[in-house]
Amino acid sequence: MDAIEVRGLHKRYGDTVAVEDVSLSVEAGEIYGVLGRNGAGKSTTVEAVAGLQRPDRGEVRVFGLDPRRDRNRLRQVLGVQLQDAALHAALTVRELVRLYRSFYRDGADPEELIEHVGLTGQRRTRFEHLSGGQQQRLNIALALVGDPRAVVLDELTTGLDPEARRHMWATVEGLRDRGVTVVLVSHHMEEVERLCDRVALIERGRVAAVDTPEGLVARAGLEQVVRFRTAAPFDPAVLDRVEEVRSVRTVGDQVVATGSGNLLHAVSTALVKADVVALDTRFERATLEDAFLSLTGSPFDDASGSER
Ligand code: ADP
Repeated sequence: MDAIEVRGLHKRYGDTVAVEDVSLSVEAGEIYGVLGRNGAGKSTTVEAVAGLQRPDRGEVRVFGLDPRRDRNRLRQVLGVQLQDAALHAALTVRELVRLYRSFYRDGADPEELIEHVGLTGQRRTRFEHLSGGQQQRLNIALALVGDPRAVVLDELTTGLDPEARRHMWATVEGLRDRGVTVVLVSHHMEEVERLCDRVALIERGRVAAVDTPEGLVARAGLEQVVRFRTAAPFDPAVLDRVEEVRSVRTVGDQVVATGSGNLLHAVSTALVKADVVALDTRFERATLEDAFLSLTGSPFDDASGSER
């Protein structure tokens, strides 16, 4: 059984279609990225998964539960960190974590969790006096307090400084190691490329593609380049029958092979077979951001990957 299934989701707000038609299957234990431009329908989709939006059409299942009908059981298995969660401003970090912990039969130790997200120094600070980044970390702690089987993280590292961001990435990797399913909404390319096992590219309320980050890059068909030198004169015919190679040229003592697919592996294998020793091998490939631009054909508002 998939951990999370969305089938034919459609949701509109008045005249605005937020989600046209989205279907997703998230396997248990994977980190599943939901990537897209602002306004593509990502948040609406994950809010439907969390039971916070009623779909106009379509079905959502989380470990077989209907998020709207089985709300209480859903809360025990799904942790949610959403953007702009409204929390009681006058409560302290410790009070909020303890309060949320009380909603669950089993769960994390509040003090350990506070330490884990780096808020020990702020345990007695009221929510309203936390910085944006600290509020974000508290939101993440609250998503994890019930030791969920799956967690939805919407714009996980927005507002965090680079160090805190890396810490949060390690936390997410730690969740995967424990078998927790993670749905990660992001428009931070480096984050998605580094963390996600698979990514759904959402465009104007539809799924444009689902693949591994490398698969999306390969799918975009963007050129890759392998450069190397050889100790002895090189015969380009060695790479003639390698499907992934599109062109080979020599520049001085350097050989430059361009192509697509699993180019580096294909070239290395062909060279080994031909007993050619490659020196100073360098590989350049398109990034997920290049693939995103190529697959969606529209500019990305936050191509730098910085916070909004
Ligand atoms: P994303 O998370 O990809 O930025 P959203 O799901 O937040 O996209 O929004 C999709 C579309 O629906 C956008 O055009 C947005 O303006 C609109 N939208 C989202 N929430 C509401 C709402 N509560 N009322 C009206 N329009 C909304």
